[in-house]
Amino acid sequence: MFSYEEIKQIRNQFPILNQFPILKKKENNSIYFDNAATTQKPVQVINAIKKYYCNFNSNVNRSFHVLDQFTNNYLELSRNNIKYFINAKSREEIIFTSGTTESINLIAFCISKVIKKSYDIIISHSEHHSNIIPWQVLSQNHNANLKVIPVNSEGELNIRVFNKLMTKKTKLISISHVTNTFGIINPIKKLIKTAHKYNSLVLIDGSQAISHLTIDVQNLDCDFYVFSIHKMYGPSGIGILYGKKKVLDKFTPYQCGGGMIEKVTLKKTIFSGLPFKLESGTPNIAGIIGTNKALNFIVNYSIIKIKNYETKLLKYALKILSNINGIKIYYKNSKLTKILSFNIENIHSFDLGKLLNNYGIAFRTGTHCAQPIMDYLKLNGTIRISFAIYNTIEEIDIFYKYLIKCLYYLR
Ligand code: PMP
Repeated sequence: MFSYEEIKQIRNQFPILNQFPILKKKENNSIYFDNAATTQKPVQVINAIKKYYCNFNSNVNRSFHVLDQFTNNYLELSRNNIKYFINAKSREEIIFTSGTTESINLIAFCISKVIKKSYDIIISHSEHHSNIIPWQVLSQNHNANLKVIPVNSEGELNIRVFNKLMTKKTKLISISHVTNTFGIINPIKKLIKTAHKYNSLVLIDGSQAISHLTIDVQNLDCDFYVFSIHKMYGPSGIGILYGKKKVLDKFTPYQCGGGMIEKVTLKKTIFSGLPFKLESGTPNIAGIIGTNKALNFIVNYSIIKIKNYETKLLKYALKILSNINGIKIYYKNSKLTKILSFNIENIHSFDLGKLLNNYGIAFRTGTHCAQPIMDYLKLNGTIRISFAIYNTIEEIDIFYKYLIKCLYYLR
């Protein structure tokens, strides 16, 4: 577990935490509890991006000059480090995208070539819109069936129904590792094992898991694992698509252009192999450089220590928030992560969010890009606080104090 001193040192690495000029309105608070939306960035990430633009800016893989070689080496170093971080078998399995959303859309596009009428694609009722809409559109365009694993009143997957949904017609299951609404850890290993018995591919949306859990894609045996770097202390606009080589090898390019070819004539193009055939055009070089620094940051502090610390914060928050009259916490019986969602009887999450923001406390309110699960549970939204390595018990105490104050005004 991190000591008080260590957390202080960690906080000092995040320039925004020391100023937050926008948040500091009344009472001088500047508390950031919206880490499931995006995390703040340490100075190492910011400086690496600045250094790239100031000292090394060039394209990659296009020229033989020293600047190009430098950026190219750096890009491949980042790819290798991602490979180690999630324990992929080879660097060819790591594709740079712009984020989770693009990763899922890329897979949907490539899979669409083999999806036929009456095939099934399975998602859960609890997915982020990014993991619903691409499959909805794909199913509609190909007359395939989009089937949905239901959840119980606690928001947990109904595995019994899932087992019944699986048939030989199932071609793909796409499911989140940790839900962004309530922070529920889905039993993905079990789902993957069952899916493979039916020869179905499995895509795991790791957006909310990647900065909190140890990910071993070989052990999970998933076919795809996708995530965004901005949720793990890195820059926005960059994401990862991990795919098993034998599956990605069968993909035809999703976008075509420079950087992904062996030979082009006006009649025909021979594409590069993996990973380049799925990475056309100039990549987000600064983002990839920042990615490497973000990875170093996490590895340096250890993902297991980060998880334990965030869970300690969550347990503490659960304990003190449970005292509030009329609070409904979703779903405190699940295994804890870093996400805590709740509502207060007769108070709209937007009202509370707006009022607490006046006191310099930032968190997410609303339906969290997951309207189907909110509709199913008849919720017009929730208040979601989510933690990262730089948050503290003291911040939770301040949050609690101002929450009580706001409830006094709203009730
Ligand atoms: N899936 C989940 C579970 C998420 O939490 C998010 C981001 N909130 C996404 C997908 C989409 O990520 P991005 O916007 O970075 O592509």
